[in-house]
Amino acid sequence: MKKGMRCLAAVLAAACVYGQDGKTGDVHAVVDLAHSFTFYADGRFARQYLGSHRSVMSWNALYNFDLSNANLLVLLDCDARLRYTEKDVAHISKFLDEGGGVVIFVSSPTCKQAELAKQFGAVYEDGAVAPMKAVPALNVDKVEGRASIKLRADEKNPWTAFVTDAEGAVVAGMRKVGKGRLMVAPRGFSGSNPDASDPINAAWLAPVLERLAQGKAIDKSKPFNGKGLTDADHVEAHTDISLYYSDYLMPYAKAMLEITQRTKPYIEKRMGVPLSEGMGSKVGLLATGGGGFSGGTLIGLAVWWGGFPEKEDSMIEFVTHESVHSWVLPFPEVWNEPIATYVGNLVMIDMGHGEEAERRIADTIKRARRHDPDMNRYDLAGKSTRTGIEPLTGGAANDVHWGKTYWIFEELRKEKPDFMATYFQLKRKHAKPDAIKKYTMDNTVALLGKTMGRDLFPWFREIGFDVDAGRVDIVF
Ligand SMILES: [Zn+2]
Repeated sequence: MKKGMRCLAAVLAAACVYGQDGKTGDVHAVVDLAHSFTFYADGRFARQYLGSHRSVMSWNALYNFDLSNANLLVLLDCDARLRYTEKDVAHISKFLDEGGGVVIFVSSPTCKQAELAKQFGAVYEDGAVAPMKAVPALNVDKVEGRASIKLRADEKNPWTAFVTDAEGAVVAGMRKVGKGRLMVAPRGFSGSNPDASDPINAAWLAPVLERLAQGKAIDKSKPFNGKGLTDADHVEAHTDISLYYSDYLMPYAKAMLEITQRTKPYIEKRMGVPLSEGMGSKVGLLATGGGGFSGGTLIGLAVWWGGFPEKEDSMIEFVTHESVHSWVLPFPEVWNEPIATYVGNLVMIDMGHGEEAERRIADTIKRARRHDPDMNRYDLAGKSTRTGIEPLTGGAANDVHWGKTYWIFEELRKEKPDFMATYFQLKRKHAKPDAIKKYTMDNTVALLGKTMGRDLFPWFREIGFDVDAGRVDIVF
């Protein structure tokens, strides 16, 4: 009887911690993208460390994210131009109080992540001494990745160490906060590659993340959804575009809208045709200075690209680049990346940044000439049609891909300044998805020939391209 009661007590205690439906080990993770956008944070971290567990992304203000059915919060980074607001900290504290697990990755003692960690009593300082050592319980030989920071010792509230430096200072550790668990670790201990090719420390990070989450019940039968870029804190419908952004990026929204709207007619003039119906009509703002994407309808734009809003030339190039990816559809171009930036350079010229644009064009061509001085050795992939010439790889292949594309366009522009507009008018008219299978180099050269009013196949063969008019399947 006594034994039976103890069992019941144990079950009840377990129920308090794990909830009735929650099975130990089930994880519902939320990865924050709103303080710093990276392609890595968008799913790759979860793929590397959360295995089959459910993981979603928060693209908007963290304090607006419903964490009730989550038990792990992953905070990878915060851009230096943002910070965690008081509302964020209150939201994170409440989540910890309720038993949630939080991991804060920190890259330096002065970064915004370190400021956040400090609010929970984790003070990082420089001076970790290599080599790093994993505690025996983790059962790993070696700690991967780099760390130069260590936690300031805290005798009153010590850390459960996972990794220490050579002198025994805790570098990555965990402690209880409320009913939950907080882990802090150097950013260099987890991956960062957008192709998820660097799952460093997965052997110990994956089980540790599971353990962090165990203080809070989740219900797998109830909805657990991310908040995407278009589930935004702010949605503004304008004449030709809808703008989506988080509370954090509110100070940049007006300038981003203005530059996007101001650039658009210039892109249309250079492209010769309007955007296809619906394409590029949604613009989402990203908390980064380092990139964006185009998904056809939705374009994601880095708000601090090229020093924006203080400087606008690179932003014009970038907005155009992402827009052109939508503009060229339904068939991406054979030179899809360089053409997008090249049109960006033409638009820069039209918008008063001609000198800088011409310099960028010249520099891009110069980089290709280092490998192909007479522009007759390689095709766009860095392969040669001539025998005895080895194909280019890596950076050299990339230089040729971009520079040769630019050079071809410049040759055509010298002869016909608005060739690009004519080309895209013809592409829209003749390259119909129901008529052609694939938009190939052969089809491209055929359309460019039509644009210039002469057969361009001999010239393209002379400059190293394996093209053939007999393979063209566009019907004129
Ligand atoms: Zn691109």
